[in-house]
Amino acid sequence: MQIKVFKFGGASVKDSDGIKNVGKILSDSQGQKIIVVVSAMGKTTNALEQVVAHFYNGSDQTQVLLDNIKKAHFDMADALLSHSEPLKAELNDIFVEIDWILEESPHEDYDYTYDQIVSIGELLSSRILNAYLTELGLKCTWQDVRDLVRTDNTYRDARVQWDITQQRMQPVTRIFDTADFIITQGFIGSTSENFTTTLGREGSDYTAAIFSYCLDAESMHIWKDVPGVLTGDPTLFENVSLLPRLSYKEAIEMTYYGAKVIHPKTIKPLQNKHIPMYVRPFGDPKSYGTLISDEVELNYPPVIVIEHRQALLHISTNDFSFVAEHHMSHIFSLLARHRLKVNMMRNTAISFTVCVNQIDDRIVRFEKDLGNEFRLVRDNDLELITIRHYNEGILKDLKSGNLILFEEKLSDTAQIVVKKLPRMRRKDNV
Ligand code: ADP
Ligand code: ASP
Ligand code: MG
Repeated sequence: MQIKVFKFGGASVKDSDGIKNVGKILSDSQGQKIIVVVSAMGKTTNALEQVVAHFYNGSDQTQVLLDNIKKAHFDMADALLSHSEPLKAELNDIFVEIDWILEESPHEDYDYTYDQIVSIGELLSSRILNAYLTELGLKCTWQDVRDLVRTDNTYRDARVQWDITQQRMQPVTRIFDTADFIITQGFIGSTSENFTTTLGREGSDYTAAIFSYCLDAESMHIWKDVPGVLTGDPTLFENVSLLPRLSYKEAIEMTYYGAKVIHPKTIKPLQNKHIPMYVRPFGDPKSYGTLISDEVELNYPPVIVIEHRQALLHISTNDFSFVAEHHMSHIFSLLARHRLKVNMMRNTAISFTVCVNQIDDRIVRFEKDLGNEFRLVRDNDLELITIRHYNEGILKDLKSGNLILFEEKLSDTAQIVVKKLPRMRRKDNV
């Protein structure tokens, strides 16, 4: 059976017009067999994160924040359906489970509670989408992804257990005997004990790739609020242009360096089974945007990737001894234990410098475990700029007006770590 996987992100389902547009795209795709993976509406995941944070701080705003989320979803149900009561009853059941959690005192494992609460964003949006499509007369079935995607219990960053996930997914194809669309959730999974897990922020693209891999999809299509993959983030740069084709290799490099348009774990499962992936504009459904496939390397233009909130850790030995192999292995095992991703690094005889995402609590724990042998100096609030296929002109442009703390050039990739300098303006009266 030829299956396609479509994924609609938060921006695509942020309001009733967005859901209607999904309805239109799917109406035009009737007769095909499509798994539809949907994210939480708009910024719902951020709002749910706030609920968790307030709950753990003992704030009296916790319930108010949850009620706001509930109202937004009920309003959406009213805006889309002529008779919204049955859907609102389904949505209410989802909220009741969270009410139960909030009635107790917070569980000692923050990440566990986070996953139980934050995961409802996708359950809610997929219920709403399914009800709307059903009202449109499309043949669709709602599927709880937690019955399919099995993970370990690393809450907030769960690892997929591929064999069992693949086994559980096989019967799903039978649903297509009677339906054109299976509506399911991105971002979430469940443990062997049926506790809900999440796959890491922005993980819905990855869910689509898990389905594509396990069901040998013919193609995967992720619908975004951009024309496709561009030469830079359009919210940060003018004059960006569309990359009509990318190889898996180029795409994995871009996402590794932090290009936010695709979740970094997405490409590998697709590459392993040679499944083509399209990044398509939600606002222009006829366009195929960017095709990512096995294609031979083309001549790429310079592509810029920016990672905000970076920290440089300068680690040196206290007694002036060399940063030798045994030191390196100690430092790397601690970086891995504290889940600090190394974005760039360099060593000299007695020092080692590494650029990591600035996740303060993890860095503090890392520093504590590093031990007395080492001294650590840290620069905060930096930006890491990576330019694939750079030229000197573009590098010069990006450096200007910034303090350069670190620079590295390979044959096809240049990276600079910069501190943004406040722009000084001349006073008019002098
Ligand atoms: P969704 O969550 O809706 O699936 P995302 O917001 O995660 O989508 O990704 C789309 C966003 O990625 C765009 O709005 C854009 O700001 C950003 N982006 C960053 N780098 C790029 C790039 N190279 N090309 C296109 N979009 C990019
Ligand atoms: N809703 C989740 C998030 O915002 C997952 C996703 O959208 O991909 O992180
Ligand atoms: Mg997103």
